[in-house]
Amino acid sequence: MTVTQGEALAALHRVFGYEAFRGEQEAVIEHVVAGGDAVVLMPTGGGKSLCYQIPALVRPGTGVVVSPLIALMQDQVDALRALGVRAGFMNSTQDFDERRVVEAEFLAGELDLLYLAPERLRLDSTLDLLSRGKISVFAIDEAHCVSQWGHDFRPDYLMLSLLGERWPDVPRMALTATATHATHREITERLNMPTARHFVASFDRPNIQYRIVPKADPKKQLLGFLREEHPGDAGIVYCLSRNSVEKTAEFLTRNGIEAVPYHAGLDAGTRAAHQARFLREDGLVVVATIAFGMGIDKPDVRFVAHLDLPKSVEGYYQETGRAGRDGLPSTAWMAYGLGDVIQQRKLIQSGEGDESFRRRANQHLDAMLALCETVQCRRGQLLAYFGQDPDPAGCGNCDTCLTPPETWDGTIAAQKVLSTVVRLQRERGQKFGAVQIVDILLGRRTAKVIQFDHDQLSVFGIGEELTEAEWRGVVRQLLAQGLLAVEGEYGTLVLTEASGAVLRREREVPLRKEPEKPAASRSGGSGPSGSGRGERKARAAAELPAELVPAFEALRAWRAEQAREQGVPAYVIFHDATLREIVTVWPASVAELGGISGVGEKKLATYGEGVVAVLGSLGGPSGGAADPAGDAGAAGRDDRPDPDVEPEPEPDWA
Ligand code: ADP
Ligand code: ZN
Repeated sequence: MTVTQGEALAALHRVFGYEAFRGEQEAVIEHVVAGGDAVVLMPTGGGKSLCYQIPALVRPGTGVVVSPLIALMQDQVDALRALGVRAGFMNSTQDFDERRVVEAEFLAGELDLLYLAPERLRLDSTLDLLSRGKISVFAIDEAHCVSQWGHDFRPDYLMLSLLGERWPDVPRMALTATATHATHREITERLNMPTARHFVASFDRPNIQYRIVPKADPKKQLLGFLREEHPGDAGIVYCLSRNSVEKTAEFLTRNGIEAVPYHAGLDAGTRAAHQARFLREDGLVVVATIAFGMGIDKPDVRFVAHLDLPKSVEGYYQETGRAGRDGLPSTAWMAYGLGDVIQQRKLIQSGEGDESFRRRANQHLDAMLALCETVQCRRGQLLAYFGQDPDPAGCGNCDTCLTPPETWDGTIAAQKVLSTVVRLQRERGQKFGAVQIVDILLGRRTAKVIQFDHDQLSVFGIGEELTEAEWRGVVRQLLAQGLLAVEGEYGTLVLTEASGAVLRREREVPLRKEPEKPAASRSGGSGPSGSGRGERKARAAAELPAELVPAFEALRAWRAEQAREQGVPAYVIFHDATLREIVTVWPASVAELGGISGVGEKKLATYGEGVVAVLGSLGGPSGGAADPAGDAGAAGRDDRPDPDVEPEPEPDWA
């Protein structure tokens, strides 16, 4: 082991309380500590922060972190200070005096880490300040913001290339969770890092279960999913429009699931308040547009749900990646249907941008549709999209692996749909949307069918062997496969170049059969559904043995108390994963507690006695104490059993 490796590992143990580095962390840190530049691609939750935090601790000087996430800087700095790291930030939310304090600390060499918004680097005063202090490393977080191909472009990022010119001796790092080759190349070019070493981690997130269900009544489906699988869990629900965000949040709240809206149409104060509640409270649901989420590093987000189709696989992966950063089981759930395909195609056609922009947008959408329609492992498809090798045997933790979808020969059905489109166009010079096509196939004499005499067409009523939902599934899959296209503002259906081969019987059309009942949840049974406050603590304990659940809940209650007193999110005190390990190991002393992952020196000193006292009051892992720790113990004991878990025999102290 080299000296720097030894120092880095020591910092990992002492400050963060972690056993070992994960994946590429060690290689990245060694390279940067030795003065090299690095481009780091890791999925959300992969552990990017340590990659720059440890070099900043090990190298002399202050690590400067450039991040666009102003609203989160305070929390990031709080979390570091709770670990005993000397951290500060400078952004527009501070007043003059606060900034002066941070500047003085920086100049005095009293900061390990300084977080900066990119726009601050436009100011000469900032550059001047930085030149007067000592910098250990520059970390450019969310580096994909420099890329115009990506989805979060920020003009201020373009000027970050000057860091290398001005500070040629300070190592630079660019970090992102966006991994397509195009973005990767753009980052390297635009940040002017030609000699950087590239570290690409595995993009797999094995603890996230991916599921895509056919859309029927999405709000109700969502409610069922939350009640059956995630009662009391924190999560994010993504919707396309502000309106549906508002309506969905209201709907959930009305049905006993606490949910707050978040979208760019809300004023900044409301947005900040809702974000802060999400970070600080246990088990709140945020219903949001894609305006929400970048940099939210809440570790215990248990689900990410999509009620509308994302525009790209990149976006989908980033959004779903916000679930389960703590490595515990989590779900990425999406409801998807014909309407989504038509809507997205229409948006691209009617949107701004030139022809090449539209072509790119359609390519992004095609990849997303392929993921939705695949009969193979979803994870495999995702990893392949990011240029990585999936397990050919499947992942065992996505809906297609858990309940392999059946396929059927849809050639004749496809021909029927395409012939209807052709007849309308050739015989009548008309174009119609999916609803009319399906009505014609089913032989329905609706007002619109009669108005246009469509019951006189030879294709009228030739499709009575399938239901309406099945026909919509056929049309959706034809659109997804490029055998049918959407045109104009009404979303009328037209043929594509590939349609001819189907009509001439030159190619077959395998289709995916819609599962009657969506894939089962990860833990098998779906017990009675429930809702409301009483269960807000239930889920996080689900995978623990029943006899440890009361202790886990007691520690959560103790943690909530600490968090409230200090005005920080609960996970800044300890992560759920750490609490779980504590009750599993059941340390008898403060010293023993120090051996648990996530308990570093500072936290041991601050909370060690408190944790051991809570455990002591419970008597031991198998119970025995007459009266568990006051309110905290009672909270765990009185909770309704987790509806997703088989009822357990009553523990002997209950
Ligand atoms: P990213 O920024 O890549 O999304 P984070 O840096 O927030 O990910 O890390 C994700 C989670 O993993 C955090 O809760 C972090 O504390 C934890 N973590 C990171 N590295 C390690 C490690 N070596 N051992 C244990 N936990 C780790
Ligand atoms: Zn799979």
